[in-house]
Amino acid sequence: MHILSKSTYIKGEQCEKALYLFKNRPFLRDKLSMEQRAKFKRGTDVGILAQQLFPGGINMTPSSPSLFGKKAIETMQNLSNPDINVMYEAVFQYDDTLIMLDIIVRDGDKWRAIEVKSSLSISPTYMKDAALQYYVLKGCNVPLSDIQLMYINADYVREGNLDLSQLFVFQSVKDYAEQYQDVIAKNIAHFKDIIKQPHSPKIPVGNQCDTPYRCEFHGHCWKDVPNKLNEPYIIDYKPLYELLGNRNYSTAFLNLLFYRPAVPLFDGDKPYSEFIIAFSVLSNNGKFDKIYNWNCLDDLSRWKDSLELLATQLTGFERVICFASQNIQASLQKYNLLESKELNYKILNLREVLQQSGFEHEKVKNDFSLKNVYETVFPDKTLFEHSRIILNALSDNLMERNLITNDLELENKALREVYQHFAR
Ligand code: SF4
Repeated sequence: MHILSKSTYIKGEQCEKALYLFKNRPFLRDKLSMEQRAKFKRGTDVGILAQQLFPGGINMTPSSPSLFGKKAIETMQNLSNPDINVMYEAVFQYDDTLIMLDIIVRDGDKWRAIEVKSSLSISPTYMKDAALQYYVLKGCNVPLSDIQLMYINADYVREGNLDLSQLFVFQSVKDYAEQYQDVIAKNIAHFKDIIKQPHSPKIPVGNQCDTPYRCEFHGHCWKDVPNKLNEPYIIDYKPLYELLGNRNYSTAFLNLLFYRPAVPLFDGDKPYSEFIIAFSVLSNNGKFDKIYNWNCLDDLSRWKDSLELLATQLTGFERVICFASQNIQASLQKYNLLESKELNYKILNLREVLQQSGFEHEKVKNDFSLKNVYETVFPDKTLFEHSRIILNALSDNLMERNLITNDLELENKALREVYQHFAR
C-alpha cells in the first residue's frame, strides 16, 4: 500500500499542512469547483488523444483504488513481455510513492516515459512532476531511454484531419529530473514523517494557499482569519461615472460564451483558438424584458452564424454592456463583426470599467468574475460559477446542454443589476 502519490507529493511541496489534512482529515476539503472540473475534463480529453499517437497500448488504469498494488505488479511484468510495446497509465510504486505514467513506449531495449500536458508551454510544476516520476521509475529499475513532457504545439494550424505528430511537441526533462533526485528523496522521507504526526503542522495561511494551485483546504484554514469579506468594497466614483457615461442610452446586455478548445476543431485554427458558441442578448422596451438566445452546441461548425445574428441583434442599441475577462472588442473585430468603429463605441466591458475605477474587495482579489463582483455588490445574493455554463455546454447530454440558455439569461440579468447599481 502506498503512502504518497504524485498529487499528494505536489500538495506537500505546496504546503505540509495541506498534505497532512489530505491524508488524515480529507473530509475537511472544499467542494470541487466547477472551474476545476472543467480543467480536469480538458486534461483528460487531450490525454486520450495523445494515446492515439502511440496506438495499440494496454491501459493499466485500475477499476478501483484497491487494485493499484495489483496493477503495479502487472506493469512490471508487462515491461519484460516482448509482445507489449506501449502502456497507458502504467502504475509504478517505489519508496511508498505511487505514480501513474500517461504513456510508456518501448524504445529499443529501453523504455521512453511520457507525461502529457494539455497546455501550450511547460511550467516549473510540470518539471517537478516529471522529476518525481523519474525518481519512482528509477527506483523500480525501469531501463529508461528518456523521460519527456508531451504538450500542445502553439504553432500548429489544422488543415483537414488532425495531424497528431504536429499537434504535440516533446521535451526531454531527463537532465533536470536527474539533478533533482536527492531533493525528492529527502522530501519523500520528510512528507512521510509529517503524515505520521498526531497533529497537523502549525502553518499560517499565506501566499501558498493559492500558489501554484488553490488549496482545497481554503475553507477550513481561512475560517478563523479576521474576515475581510464582510467589509464594504472600495471604488472611485469619479472615473466610474466618466467611464459609464449616460444611463439613458438605449442599452442591451450581451452575454457571450466563447470556446477555446485545446485541440483545433476547424481548418485554419490553432490550438486554443477562440470562437463563439452561444450568446444571449437582454434588453428592455420600458415595460418588458426582451431576450434573444442563440447557440450552436448541437453542431459547432455553425458557429459563424453567430456573427451575423449578433450584428442584427445589436443594431439599434446605443450601448452594449458585457462582462468579460478578455478584450471583447478585439475578439469580435477578429471576425469583422459590425463596422469596427461602431462596435468599439457601443461595447462597454463592465469588468474593465470597474477595474479602471479601482473596484477593490477581498472577494475579487484573486478572481474578478461577475459572480464575485455581484456577490460583493449585493452581499445577500448569490450567482452560480460561470464554469457551470462551460461544463454544461460541452456535455454529451442534451438536457445539460439545454440548461445553458437559462444560465446565460441569469448571468445577463445579474450583469444588468450590477450596471444599474453603478450607473447614474
Ligand atoms: S489553506 Fe493554506 S495553510 Fe491551509 S492547508 Fe492549504 S495551503 Fe496550507
